Amino acid sequence: MQESTRLSGTHSFSSRDIGEHYDQFAWAYRRYWGDHIHHGLFKTGNEDSEQSQRLMLQHCAGRAGVQAGMNVADVGCGHGGTVNLLAGEYGCSVLGLTISETQLRLARKACESLDGKVRFELADAEAYDFQPSGFDLIWNMESTEHFFDKPAYFRKVAGALRPGGKLMVAAWSGSMKDELVQNVARIFLCPELWTLEEYVHEIEATGLKIVSREELAAEVVRTWDISAEHIHKSRWMLSILPATFTEFTKGIELMREGYRSGQLKYSIIVAARAD
Ligand code: SAH
Repeated sequence: MQESTRLSGTHSFSSRDIGEHYDQFAWAYRRYWGDHIHHGLFKTGNEDSEQSQRLMLQHCAGRAGVQAGMNVADVGCGHGGTVNLLAGEYGCSVLGLTISETQLRLARKACESLDGKVRFELADAEAYDFQPSGFDLIWNMESTEHFFDKPAYFRKVAGALRPGGKLMVAAWSGSMKDELVQNVARIFLCPELWTLEEYVHEIEATGLKIVSREELAAEVVRTWDISAEHIHKSRWMLSILPATFTEFTKGIELMREGYRSGQLKYSIIVAARAD
């Protein structure tokens, strides 16, 4: 696998560590988060986690104008839940990229029945050669947080869009000047979180035009309340699991606090290449 080896002095982890994290946590994410590893959208607050994740996907797909026949790249595809939906229900052809070998296996299995409409590759998106002008939509659901050089990544994918093609970015957001945000970034292996404004600025710098932008918090925070409930029920397990899991549970509390205090937001941005 081609890998970005950018390991800056300010980070104590590399892209290899991020892949290993997802290998190590694959079973936990599958068990506690289900088919998807992304925030849910809670419209009434009574949705369960599966319903809320589906609402989030439908919301972002609506913003990005997903249509049958589109050629989509799902960058950081987890264990294939979104690829399954975009190919199986929306009728798109989808390329899924993940940096984790375990996720790659799970994703291929989850999408077995969609042979011919989906393909997966084990790849570091920051080092990946996207086909120039090859995609109608490049979908980044909670993956850019892990990228070391986001401006370079956005420049690259802007050139991988067909004329009129769209970039969708959904991302945990906050200012790295804030200590809580720094701690969230460290615990969840994100070199940096960005604010919505930072994303918009760098995406516009590539020449793409912003089509929609929004910041959510109250509508997504229940995601972490549900995680905290799961962890509480399984707390007996923490004593026998590696320390990284305990650290992760601290991260869950910081997410809850951050969304409620306004230090964290959930940004959804859609940008388009000119026709
Ligand atoms: N988009 C998925 C998973 C989000 S979790 C979902 O919505 O369910 C973050 C994902 O980004 C994981 O699949 C992880 O393997 C992937 N990822 C992180 N850094 C990456 C990189 N440099 N290249 C490719 N994938 C990466």
